Amino acid sequence: MKLTTDADFAYQMDAGDVLAPFRERFVITDPNLIYLDGNSLGRLPRPTIPAMADAIERGWGDRLIRLWNDGWIDTPRVLGSKIAQLIGAQPDEVVVTDSTSINLFKLVVAALRARPERLKMVSDRLNFPTDLYVLEGASDLLGRGHRLELVDSQDSITIPEHDLQAAMDEQTALVSLTHVAYRSAFMYDMAQVTTWAHQAGALILWDLSHSVGVVPLALNDWDVDLAVGCTYKYLNGGPGSPAFLYVRRDLQRELMQPIWGWFAAREPFAFELEFEPAQDIDRFRAGTAPMLSMKALEPALDLLLEAGVDQVRAKSEQQTEYLIYLADRWLVPLGFTLGSPGEVERRGSHVSLRHPEAQRISEALIEPTPPAPRIIGDFRPPDNIRLGIAPLYNSFDEIRRAVARIRAVVEDRLYQDCSK
Ligand SMILES: *Cc1c(COP(=O)(O)O)cnc(C)c1O
Repeated sequence: MKLTTDADFAYQMDAGDVLAPFRERFVITDPNLIYLDGNSLGRLPRPTIPAMADAIERGWGDRLIRLWNDGWIDTPRVLGSKIAQLIGAQPDEVVVTDSTSINLFKLVVAALRARPERLKMVSDRLNFPTDLYVLEGASDLLGRGHRLELVDSQDSITIPEHDLQAAMDEQTALVSLTHVAYRSAFMYDMAQVTTWAHQAGALILWDLSHSVGVVPLALNDWDVDLAVGCTYKYLNGGPGSPAFLYVRRDLQRELMQPIWGWFAAREPFAFELEFEPAQDIDRFRAGTAPMLSMKALEPALDLLLEAGVDQVRAKSEQQTEYLIYLADRWLVPLGFTLGSPGEVERRGSHVSLRHPEAQRISEALIEPTPPAPRIIGDFRPPDNIRLGIAPLYNSFDEIRRAVARIRAVVEDRLYQDCSK
Protein backbone atom coordinates (compact mmCIF):
# COMPACT_ATOMS: atom_id res chain seq x y z
CA MET A 1 0.00 0.00 0.00
CA LYS A 2 1.26 3.46 -0.86
CA LEU A 3 2.26 5.49 2.19
CA THR A 4 0.37 8.69 2.90
CA THR A 5 0.23 11.06 5.86
CA ASP A 6 -3.60 10.77 6.19
CA ALA A 7 -5.06 9.31 9.35
CA ASP A 8 -7.07 6.99 7.10
CA PHE A 9 -3.91 5.28 6.01
CA ALA A 10 -3.08 4.33 9.60
CA TYR A 11 -6.64 3.09 10.22
CA GLN A 12 -6.53 0.93 7.12
CA MET A 13 -3.16 -0.54 8.03
CA ASP A 14 -4.43 -1.38 11.50
CA ALA A 15 -7.62 -2.88 10.07
CA GLY A 16 -5.60 -5.20 7.83
CA ASP A 17 -2.98 -6.10 10.43
CA VAL A 18 -2.92 -9.81 11.30
CA LEU A 19 -1.07 -9.07 14.56
CA ALA A 20 -3.54 -6.41 15.72
CA PRO A 21 -5.45 -8.85 18.01
CA PHE A 22 -2.28 -9.38 20.05
CA ARG A 23 -2.51 -5.86 21.44
CA GLU A 24 -5.41 -6.96 23.63
CA ARG A 25 -3.30 -9.63 25.20
CA PHE A 26 -1.25 -6.96 26.94
CA VAL A 27 -2.18 -4.81 29.91
CA ILE A 28 -2.91 -1.33 28.63
CA THR A 29 -4.17 0.89 31.44
CA ASP A 30 -3.84 4.38 29.99
CA PRO A 31 -5.45 4.99 26.59
CA ASN A 32 -3.69 8.33 26.41
CA LEU A 33 -0.22 6.81 26.65
CA ILE A 34 1.64 5.92 23.48
CA TYR A 35 4.36 3.58 24.60
CA LEU A 36 7.35 3.50 22.25
CA ASP A 37 9.83 2.02 24.69
CA GLY A 38 9.20 -1.68 24.29
CA ASN A 39 12.87 -1.96 23.33
CA SER A 40 13.80 -0.95 26.90
CA LEU A 41 11.03 -2.61 28.88
CA GLY A 42 8.30 -4.52 27.10
CA ARG A 43 4.69 -4.28 28.22
CA LEU A 44 3.07 -6.74 30.62
CA PRO A 45 1.32 -9.65 28.86
CA ARG A 46 -2.04 -10.43 30.46
CA PRO A 47 -1.34 -14.17 30.90
CA THR A 48 1.68 -13.27 33.00
CA ILE A 49 -0.56 -12.10 35.85
CA PRO A 50 -2.28 -15.45 36.60
CA ALA A 51 1.00 -17.29 35.92
CA MET A 52 2.75 -15.20 38.57
CA ALA A 53 -0.15 -15.52 41.00
CA ASP A 54 -0.04 -19.28 40.56
CA ALA A 55 3.72 -19.41 41.00
CA ILE A 56 3.48 -17.46 44.23
CA GLU A 57 0.32 -18.87 45.79
CA ARG A 58 0.39 -22.46 44.66
CA GLY A 59 4.11 -22.86 43.99
CA TRP A 60 5.79 -20.98 46.79
CA GLY A 61 2.78 -20.85 49.13
CA ASP A 62 1.59 -24.43 48.96
CA ARG A 63 4.17 -26.63 47.29
CA LEU A 64 7.20 -25.07 48.97
CA ILE A 65 10.40 -27.03 48.39
CA ARG A 66 8.43 -29.69 46.51
CA LEU A 67 7.97 -27.21 43.66
CA TRP A 68 11.34 -28.20 42.25
CA ASN A 69 9.93 -31.68 41.65
CA ASP A 70 6.91 -30.20 39.86
CA GLY A 71 9.14 -29.55 36.88
CA TRP A 72 10.41 -26.20 38.09
CA ILE A 73 13.96 -27.51 38.11
CA ASP A 74 13.85 -27.77 34.30
CA THR A 75 12.53 -24.25 33.72
CA PRO A 76 15.83 -22.61 32.65
CA ARG A 77 16.22 -25.26 29.95
CA VAL A 78 12.55 -25.26 28.95
CA LEU A 79 12.63 -21.49 28.50
CA GLY A 80 15.95 -21.84 26.70
CA SER A 81 14.38 -24.24 24.22
CA LYS A 82 11.60 -21.74 23.52
CA ILE A 83 14.13 -18.97 22.90
CA ALA A 84 16.06 -21.39 20.68
CA GLN A 85 13.04 -21.42 18.37
CA LEU A 86 13.21 -17.64 18.14
CA ILE A 87 16.90 -17.54 17.24
CA GLY A 88 17.35 -20.57 15.00
CA ALA A 89 19.20 -22.78 17.46
CA GLN A 90 18.79 -26.29 18.87
CA PRO A 91 16.81 -26.67 22.11
CA ASP A 92 19.92 -27.82 23.98
CA GLU A 93 22.01 -24.84 22.90
CA VAL A 94 20.21 -22.17 24.92
CA VAL A 95 19.60 -21.68 28.62
CA VAL A 96 17.92 -18.86 30.53
CA THR A 97 20.15 -17.71 33.35
CA ASP A 98 21.66 -14.67 35.09
CA SER A 99 21.73 -11.24 33.43
CA THR A 100 23.05 -10.27 30.03
CA SER A 101 26.11 -8.62 31.57
CA ILE A 102 26.97 -11.73 33.59
CA ASN A 103 26.41 -14.03 30.65
CA LEU A 104 28.66 -11.84 28.55
CA PHE A 105 31.33 -12.05 31.21
CA LYS A 106 31.13 -15.84 31.41
CA LEU A 107 31.30 -16.30 27.65
CA VAL A 108 33.99 -13.66 27.06
CA VAL A 109 36.30 -15.28 29.61
CA ALA A 110 35.55 -18.72 28.18
CA ALA A 111 36.29 -17.54 24.64
CA LEU A 112 39.52 -15.71 25.51
CA ARG A 113 40.84 -18.74 27.33
CA ALA A 114 40.03 -20.93 24.34
CA ARG A 115 42.39 -18.87 22.14
CA PRO A 116 45.32 -18.37 24.56
CA GLU A 117 47.86 -17.49 21.88
CA ARG A 118 45.76 -14.54 20.63
CA LEU A 119 45.53 -11.30 22.59
CA LYS A 120 43.14 -9.12 20.64
CA MET A 121 39.41 -8.49 21.03
CA VAL A 122 37.37 -6.64 18.42
CA SER A 123 34.19 -4.66 18.95
CA ASP A 124 32.76 -1.33 17.81
CA ARG A 125 32.07 2.15 19.15
CA LEU A 126 28.32 1.86 18.77
CA ASN A 127 28.19 -1.07 21.18
CA PHE A 128 26.30 -0.87 24.45
CA PRO A 129 28.59 0.26 27.29
CA THR A 130 28.11 -2.84 29.45
CA ASP A 131 29.37 -5.00 26.58
CA LEU A 132 32.57 -2.97 26.30
CA TYR A 133 33.08 -2.76 30.07
CA VAL A 134 32.76 -6.53 30.34
CA LEU A 135 35.39 -7.04 27.63
CA GLU A 136 37.78 -4.74 29.49
CA GLY A 137 36.99 -6.33 32.85
CA ALA A 138 37.52 -9.84 31.53
CA SER A 139 40.88 -8.94 30.04
CA ASP A 140 41.86 -7.17 33.28
CA LEU A 141 41.00 -10.29 35.23
CA LEU A 142 42.97 -12.57 32.93
CA GLY A 143 45.98 -10.25 33.24
CA ARG A 144 47.49 -11.30 29.95
CA GLY A 145 47.42 -7.91 28.23
CA HIS A 146 44.45 -8.42 25.93
CA ARG A 147 43.85 -5.40 23.72
CA LEU A 148 40.39 -4.18 22.73
CA GLU A 149 40.17 -2.72 19.25
CA LEU A 150 37.03 -0.67 18.65
CA VAL A 151 35.95 -0.08 15.08
CA ASP A 152 34.77 3.48 14.59
CA SER A 153 31.57 4.86 13.12
CA GLN A 154 31.88 7.84 10.77
CA ASP A 155 28.24 8.89 11.06
CA SER A 156 27.32 7.66 14.58
CA ILE A 157 24.73 5.46 12.87
CA THR A 158 26.50 2.65 11.02
CA ILE A 159 29.72 0.66 11.29
CA PRO A 160 31.57 0.20 7.99
CA GLU A 161 31.75 -3.56 7.74
CA HIS A 162 34.97 -3.55 5.68
CA ASP A 163 36.69 -1.72 8.58
CA LEU A 164 35.43 -4.41 10.87
CA GLN A 165 36.72 -7.13 8.58
CA ALA A 166 40.10 -5.39 8.42
CA ALA A 167 40.31 -5.36 12.23
CA MET A 168 39.99 -9.15 12.43
CA ASP A 169 43.42 -10.71 12.08
CA GLU A 170 45.57 -13.62 13.24
CA GLN A 171 45.90 -11.95 16.65
CA THR A 172 42.14 -11.82 17.22
CA ALA A 173 40.75 -14.19 19.83
CA LEU A 174 37.22 -12.84 20.01
CA VAL A 175 34.87 -10.61 18.02
CA SER A 176 32.09 -9.38 20.29
CA LEU A 177 29.29 -7.33 18.76
CA THR A 178 25.70 -6.33 19.31
CA HIS A 179 23.54 -7.38 16.37
CA VAL A 180 21.29 -4.29 16.48
CA ALA A 181 22.90 -1.16 17.93
CA TYR A 182 21.00 0.21 20.91
CA ARG A 183 21.10 3.84 19.81
CA SER A 184 20.86 3.91 16.03
CA ALA A 185 19.25 0.48 15.37
CA PHE A 186 22.01 -0.29 12.84
CA MET A 187 21.88 -4.02 12.11
CA TYR A 188 24.86 -6.10 11.12
CA ASP A 189 24.81 -8.82 8.50
CA MET A 190 25.37 -11.52 11.10
CA ALA A 191 26.07 -14.29 8.60
CA GLN A 192 28.72 -12.27 6.76
CA VAL A 193 30.48 -10.93 9.85
CA THR A 194 30.51 -14.39 11.45
CA THR A 195 32.15 -15.81 8.34
CA TRP A 196 34.87 -13.14 8.48
CA ALA A 197 35.55 -13.83 12.15
CA HIS A 198 35.94 -17.53 11.42
CA GLN A 199 38.22 -16.83 8.45
CA ALA A 200 40.46 -14.94 10.87
CA GLY A 201 40.36 -17.90 13.25
CA ALA A 202 38.49 -15.96 15.94
CA LEU A 203 35.44 -16.86 17.94
CA ILE A 204 32.38 -14.62 17.68
CA LEU A 205 29.91 -13.59 20.36
CA TRP A 206 26.70 -11.80 19.39
CA ASP A 207 24.57 -9.78 21.79
CA LEU A 208 20.97 -10.21 20.62
CA SER A 209 19.37 -7.89 23.18
CA HIS A 210 17.94 -5.53 20.59
CA SER A 211 17.00 -8.09 17.97
CA VAL A 212 15.65 -11.19 19.71
CA GLY A 213 11.90 -11.46 19.28
CA VAL A 214 11.68 -8.83 16.58
CA VAL A 215 14.23 -9.91 13.96
CA PRO A 216 14.30 -13.50 12.67
CA LEU A 217 17.64 -15.10 13.50
CA ALA A 218 19.30 -18.27 12.23
CA LEU A 219 22.25 -18.84 14.55
CA ASN A 220 22.82 -22.42 13.46
CA ASP A 221 22.64 -21.63 9.75
CA TRP A 222 25.05 -18.74 10.24
CA ASP A 223 27.41 -20.92 12.27
CA VAL A 224 27.40 -18.54 15.24
CA ASP A 225 29.63 -19.62 18.13
CA LEU A 226 28.23 -17.74 21.10
CA ALA A 227 25.38 -15.39 21.89
CA VAL A 228 23.66 -13.68 24.79
CA GLY A 229 20.49 -11.63 25.04
CA CYS A 230 18.06 -9.87 27.20
CA THR A 231 14.43 -10.90 27.85
CA TYR A 232 12.87 -7.73 29.25
CA LYS A 233 12.89 -5.84 25.95
CA TYR A 234 11.02 -7.33 22.96
CA LEU A 235 10.48 -10.60 24.85
CA ASN A 236 8.34 -8.85 27.48
CA GLY A 237 9.72 -10.84 30.41
CA GLY A 238 9.36 -8.03 32.95
CA PRO A 239 11.76 -5.66 34.74
CA GLY A 240 15.14 -7.34 35.18
CA SER A 241 13.92 -10.70 33.88
CA PRO A 242 16.70 -13.28 33.49
CA ALA A 243 18.76 -13.29 30.31
CA PHE A 244 19.79 -16.16 28.06
CA LEU A 245 22.95 -17.51 26.55
CA TYR A 246 23.65 -19.70 23.54
CA VAL A 247 26.68 -21.89 23.01
CA ARG A 248 26.90 -23.92 19.80
CA ARG A 249 26.72 -27.59 20.66
CA ASP A 250 30.22 -28.55 19.51
CA LEU A 251 31.74 -25.80 21.68
CA GLN A 252 29.95 -26.74 24.88
CA ARG A 253 32.62 -29.16 26.08
CA GLU A 254 35.51 -27.17 24.72
CA LEU A 255 34.76 -23.90 26.52
CA MET A 256 34.85 -23.35 30.26
CA GLN A 257 33.25 -20.37 31.96
CA PRO A 258 34.76 -18.98 35.17
CA ILE A 259 31.86 -19.16 37.66
CA TRP A 260 31.94 -22.72 38.85
CA GLY A 261 28.64 -22.72 40.70
CA TRP A 262 26.81 -25.90 41.60
CA PHE A 263 24.32 -25.58 38.74
CA ALA A 264 27.26 -25.67 36.33
CA ALA A 265 28.26 -29.02 37.78
CA ARG A 266 27.53 -32.36 36.17
CA GLU A 267 25.43 -33.50 39.11
CA PRO A 268 24.46 -30.60 41.37
CA PHE A 269 22.54 -32.83 43.73
CA ALA A 270 25.38 -35.27 44.26
CA PHE A 271 26.97 -32.54 46.44
CA GLU A 272 30.47 -33.58 45.43
CA LEU A 273 33.29 -31.55 46.96
CA GLU A 274 35.19 -31.34 43.72
CA PHE A 275 33.79 -29.52 40.74
CA GLU A 276 33.11 -31.60 37.71
CA PRO A 277 31.55 -29.49 34.94
CA ALA A 278 28.33 -30.42 33.18
CA GLN A 279 28.95 -31.69 29.67
CA ASP A 280 26.16 -29.66 28.11
CA ILE A 281 24.77 -26.12 28.16
CA ASP A 282 24.27 -26.36 31.94
CA ARG A 283 28.01 -25.82 32.25
CA PHE A 284 27.35 -22.15 31.50
CA ARG A 285 24.95 -21.67 34.40
CA ALA A 286 26.03 -20.73 37.91
CA GLY A 287 23.53 -20.86 40.79
CA THR A 288 19.84 -21.24 41.54
CA ALA A 289 17.50 -19.73 38.97
CA PRO A 290 15.32 -16.71 39.97
CA MET A 291 12.16 -18.76 39.64
CA LEU A 292 9.49 -16.08 40.03
CA SER A 293 11.06 -14.08 37.22
CA MET A 294 11.39 -17.24 35.15
CA LYS A 295 7.70 -17.96 35.63
CA ALA A 296 6.89 -14.45 34.40
CA LEU A 297 8.87 -15.01 31.23
CA GLU A 298 7.19 -18.21 30.11
CA PRO A 299 3.77 -16.84 29.01
CA ALA A 300 5.51 -13.94 27.30
CA LEU A 301 7.59 -16.32 25.18
CA ASP A 302 4.52 -18.39 24.34
CA LEU A 303 2.76 -15.28 23.10
CA LEU A 304 5.63 -14.41 20.82
CA LEU A 305 5.96 -17.95 19.50
CA GLU A 306 2.26 -17.92 18.72
CA ALA A 307 2.59 -14.66 16.77
CA GLY A 308 5.73 -15.84 14.92
CA VAL A 309 8.86 -13.75 14.55
CA ASP A 310 8.53 -13.58 10.77
CA GLN A 311 5.16 -11.88 11.09
CA VAL A 312 6.53 -9.60 13.78
CA ARG A 313 9.41 -8.58 11.56
CA ALA A 314 7.15 -7.97 8.56
CA LYS A 315 5.04 -5.56 10.62
CA SER A 316 8.09 -3.99 12.22
CA GLU A 317 9.52 -3.19 8.78
CA GLN A 318 6.28 -1.58 7.70
CA GLN A 319 6.07 0.41 10.92
CA THR A 320 9.63 1.72 10.96
CA GLU A 321 9.24 2.67 7.28
CA TYR A 322 6.01 4.47 8.10
CA LEU A 323 7.55 6.31 11.04
CA ILE A 324 10.48 7.47 8.91
CA TYR A 325 8.12 8.50 6.12
CA LEU A 326 6.13 10.69 8.51
CA ALA A 327 9.31 12.06 10.12
CA ASP A 328 10.65 13.05 6.69
CA ARG A 329 7.54 15.08 6.02
CA TRP A 330 6.72 16.48 9.43
CA LEU A 331 9.93 16.58 11.45
CA VAL A 332 12.86 17.03 9.09
CA PRO A 333 11.58 20.54 8.19
CA LEU A 334 11.77 21.32 11.95
CA GLY A 335 15.45 20.46 12.26
CA PHE A 336 15.34 16.71 12.87
CA THR A 337 17.62 14.27 11.14
CA LEU A 338 17.30 10.52 10.94
CA GLY A 339 19.60 8.80 13.42
CA SER A 340 18.97 5.32 12.05
CA PRO A 341 19.87 3.58 8.80
CA GLY A 342 17.53 4.47 5.95
CA GLU A 343 17.57 0.95 4.48
CA VAL A 344 15.08 -1.30 6.16
CA GLU A 345 17.31 -4.40 5.94
CA ARG A 346 19.96 -2.55 7.95
CA ARG A 347 17.64 -1.50 10.73
CA GLY A 348 16.19 -3.14 13.83
CA SER A 349 12.80 -2.20 15.25
CA HIS A 350 13.48 1.21 16.68
CA VAL A 351 14.04 4.55 15.01
CA SER A 352 16.23 7.32 16.34
CA LEU A 353 15.50 10.91 15.49
CA ARG A 354 18.17 13.47 16.19
CA HIS A 355 17.57 17.06 17.20
CA PRO A 356 19.74 19.55 19.14
CA GLU A 357 16.90 19.88 21.70
CA ALA A 358 16.27 16.12 21.90
CA GLN A 359 16.52 15.95 25.66
CA ARG A 360 13.99 18.68 26.38
CA ILE A 361 11.68 17.46 23.61
CA SER A 362 11.73 13.98 25.18
CA GLU A 363 10.78 15.43 28.52
CA ALA A 364 7.94 17.45 27.03
CA LEU A 365 6.63 14.30 25.31
CA ILE A 366 6.62 12.33 28.55
CA GLU A 367 4.97 15.05 30.66
CA PRO A 368 2.34 16.72 28.45
CA THR A 369 -0.42 19.06 29.45
CA PRO A 370 -3.71 17.09 29.14
CA PRO A 371 -5.41 16.21 26.89
CA ALA A 372 -2.29 15.86 24.72
CA PRO A 373 -1.11 12.26 24.45
CA ARG A 374 1.79 11.13 26.58
CA ILE A 375 4.58 9.69 24.43
CA ILE A 376 7.17 7.52 26.11
CA GLY A 377 10.25 6.90 24.04
CA ASP A 378 13.66 7.64 25.42
CA PHE A 379 16.46 10.07 25.15
CA ARG A 380 19.94 8.75 24.37
CA PRO A 381 22.82 11.23 24.49
CA PRO A 382 23.87 13.31 22.81
CA ASP A 383 20.83 14.12 20.67
CA ASN A 384 18.71 11.03 19.99
CA ILE A 385 15.04 10.50 20.64
CA ARG A 386 14.69 6.77 20.39
CA LEU A 387 11.29 5.39 19.41
CA GLY A 388 10.97 1.65 19.88
CA ILE A 389 8.31 -0.22 17.97
CA ALA A 390 6.97 -3.44 19.42
CA PRO A 391 4.71 -4.84 16.68
CA LEU A 392 2.83 -7.09 19.11
CA TYR A 393 1.15 -4.08 20.65
CA ASN A 394 2.04 -0.88 18.78
CA SER A 395 -0.45 0.23 16.14
CA PHE A 396 0.08 2.33 13.03
CA ASP A 397 -2.28 4.90 14.52
CA GLU A 398 -0.07 5.22 17.58
CA ILE A 399 2.93 5.87 15.37
CA ARG A 400 1.10 8.56 13.46
CA ARG A 401 -0.16 10.23 16.61
CA ALA A 402 3.30 10.12 18.17
CA VAL A 403 4.99 11.78 15.20
CA ALA A 404 2.21 14.37 15.06
CA ARG A 405 2.73 15.08 18.74
CA ILE A 406 6.48 15.51 18.30
CA ARG A 407 5.74 17.96 15.52
CA ALA A 408 3.41 19.94 17.79
CA VAL A 409 5.91 19.99 20.65
CA VAL A 410 8.61 21.41 18.42
CA GLU A 411 6.43 23.71 16.34
CA ASP A 412 4.85 25.26 19.41
CA ARG A 413 8.11 25.13 21.38
CA LEU A 414 6.40 23.26 24.19
CA TYR A 415 9.78 21.93 25.29
CA GLN A 416 11.05 25.34 26.33
CA ASP A 417 9.76 25.03 29.88
CA CYS A 418 11.62 21.75 30.39
CA SER A 419 14.89 21.87 32.26
CA LYS A 420 17.94 20.42 30.61
C1 LIG B 1 19.75 -4.11 27.27
C2 LIG B 1 21.12 -4.52 26.93
C3 LIG B 1 21.93 -5.12 27.90
C4 LIG B 1 21.43 -5.28 29.30
O1 LIG B 1 22.32 -5.87 30.16
P1 LIG B 1 21.86 -6.18 31.66
O2 LIG B 1 22.88 -7.04 32.21
O3 LIG B 1 20.48 -6.80 31.59
O4 LIG B 1 21.73 -4.88 32.37
C5 LIG B 1 23.21 -5.52 27.51
N1 LIG B 1 23.65 -5.34 26.24
C6 LIG B 1 22.87 -4.77 25.30
C7 LIG B 1 23.38 -4.60 23.92
C8 LIG B 1 21.60 -4.33 25.62
O5 LIG B 1 20.83 -3.75 24.69
